[in-house]
Amino acid sequence: MQYNVIVIGAGMVGTSIAWHLQKNGSKVLLLDKKAPGSETSYGNAGLIQREAIHAHAFPRQLSKLVQVLPNQRTDVRYSLSGVLRYSSALLQYWKYSSDKYLPQIEQEWSTLIKHCIDEHAVMVAETKAEHLIKKVGWIELHRCQNEFDAALNLAKNCPDPEIEYQALSVSELQAIEPNINVSELVGAIHWKNTWQVNNPGELVRVYAKHFEQLGGEVGQAEVQALQQTGKGWQVTVKDNSYLADHVVIATGAWSDKLIKPLGYELPLFPMRGYHLHFKQEDDNVIHHPLFDMHKGFVIGPMQQGLRVTTGAEFSLLDSEKRLNQLNKVLVCAKQIVGLNEAVEAEPWSGFRPCMPDMKPVIGAAYQHQNLWFAFGHAHHGLTLGPVTGRLIEEMIHGKTPFVSTVPFATNRFLSQ
Ligand SMILES: Cc1cc2nc3c(=O)[nH]c(=O)nc-3n(C[C@H](O)[C@H](O)[C@H](O)COP(=O)(O)OP(=O)(O)OC[C@H]3O[C@@H](n4cnc5c(N)ncnc54)[C@H](O)[C@@H]3O)c2cc1C
Repeated sequence: MQYNVIVIGAGMVGTSIAWHLQKNGSKVLLLDKKAPGSETSYGNAGLIQREAIHAHAFPRQLSKLVQVLPNQRTDVRYSLSGVLRYSSALLQYWKYSSDKYLPQIEQEWSTLIKHCIDEHAVMVAETKAEHLIKKVGWIELHRCQNEFDAALNLAKNCPDPEIEYQALSVSELQAIEPNINVSELVGAIHWKNTWQVNNPGELVRVYAKHFEQLGGEVGQAEVQALQQTGKGWQVTVKDNSYLADHVVIATGAWSDKLIKPLGYELPLFPMRGYHLHFKQEDDNVIHHPLFDMHKGFVIGPMQQGLRVTTGAEFSLLDSEKRLNQLNKVLVCAKQIVGLNEAVEAEPWSGFRPCMPDMKPVIGAAYQHQNLWFAFGHAHHGLTLGPVTGRLIEEMIHGKTPFVSTVPFATNRFLSQ
């Protein structure tokens, strides 16, 4: 069978790409070594973050760096092997986090974020996934007055008039979340436009199922090699190979493994995160995802229970799980809401695919015809999957992309 397009990687990004292509007339094979939505797109905090117009920059102040070094923080951890392996990418991340680059990066980033809800809305409606979506926003909890004041100031000066928020006093917060303990808190901000997905892995599966109903094929196999055949591509998996006119690499944090043998050296690095679910009982029901800004974790009501997700760990893709950060987060999370019985025996972990300039890579590969890259969505791959899906479809089908893809070009690190 000759396909028009093979999309490799069935996370939120690859599945959205496959869906858009199939819907617009291509014959598509979506290939993944696992079932759709089983890796990082399964275990995230479930936020489709319309308000996320600011980049997750590397701390530049010496005082903050010094706090990170002892490796005891709840929001950021590192393994030495991870830092050494990705040192060049991390140095670039540090560089791009300076005032010299950040304003332009955030302006370019916001051109994608602006469309995240509208693009999910199209897919949610067509795939009948409304039962997985709650349009309640999320709440940013603050433990420290200085940080709360700075956050409020940032919110007040938000350049995007479509973003809605409400500052909450501790008593106002308590009124909408009666089960949480507010004694450690000084206030909160309720971001209203954001959607919560109460089972992100299931949302990917629903999108993938609808892709199949449109005539697309889902294959489960690990891709081992890619080879150009004239203008098209041969994709090799164990005991089989497939032919297509175009190939899209959407393998998240693992994308390096497929593009390196083709001669591409992009500074992609993984940022690990963990989660654990706790049983929901009458006395720990919460109505919104809660983001503890000081400690850097999220507690969200999910179909599986209350999901506690951690911030960043700079580590290797194949290293053992290191549970110290999650354990410390759980102590802080239990100060806010009762978490008695864990649902799983072992915590989940996944890898955010990150680029040093905090922007995803979306576009044509610069050395080969009919090869496309779509990875590097870092903290916002759930949010931006459908936007990326539409952009790749428009480019492959020779249309003008609805957002300029120049800032996300695959060759932007060539002159570094
Ligand atoms: C703790 C945590 C919280 C987060 N919270 C949020 C949030 O609230 N909102 C948000 O927008 N984002 C969030 N993120 C980020 C988001 O989850 C990721 O950006 C997103 O899942 C990346 O999607 P993806 O499709 O690129 O990658 P993935 O979902 O990782 O999918 C990549 C796929 O490629 C497959 N693959 C890899 N190599 C091969 C191969 N050789 N052959 C075949 N298949 C292969 C894998 O099996 C996998 O299924 C969070 C991440 C973490 C870790």
